[in-house]
Amino acid sequence: MAIDQSKVIQGVHGLKLEGDSSGLIRRFGVLLNNNNVDYYNDFSFEFERAIIDSHGADFAPIARELLIYAAQDCANNTFFGIMSSDEYKGLVTPMIENEEDKVKGLVAVENALGWARVEFAELKPGEKLVLRSRGGYEEEGYRKRYGKSDHGVCYMLAGVTAGFMDLLYGPGIGPENLGTYKCEEVKCIAKGDDCCEFVATKR
Ligand SMILES: [Zn+2]
Repeated sequence: MAIDQSKVIQGVHGLKLEGDSSGLIRRFGVLLNNNNVDYYNDFSFEFERAIIDSHGADFAPIARELLIYAAQDCANNTFFGIMSSDEYKGLVTPMIENEEDKVKGLVAVENALGWARVEFAELKPGEKLVLRSRGGYEEEGYRKRYGKSDHGVCYMLAGVTAGFMDLLYGPGIGPENLGTYKCEEVKCIAKGDDCCEFVATKR
């Protein structure tokens, strides 16, 4: 049985990921929250702009790298918790038949969380992962607020792609692999491309 994405999405939605009285969702060994995408986008893109305003355009790649790394850290912890959960072991693990399925299982969960419509494109186990997305909230939010971009803006999805490689092929266990891989967004809808494309390779 290959990964049945609609079953995974149904399963994740069946978990009723709802916040407690403080709004935090305590699941998978991490603290999650269900937030407004405009809020996250403002925080992220205005952070980048503030760094450029205060330090100059030379610092733009550093600001972007920091945002990607923060997402990668989050992905390592969140998806390690998800992969270790009884729900994942019961629902997704039995569908995994090969190396690609390991990634596709994580992508199905990523899609269930509603961040974008992410598609698997290519895997060279241990070396390289390519994912593509459409409808990501970062590219949509960026275009709505600032118009066309001259660079990829989907920092969260880039960090998550690198995080998947950390978790699957890093030398240690779970989040201790953070940063083994890096990711570049080589195409982005915010730049006018037909999709966003993420390529993760060893750092
Ligand atoms: Zn993008």
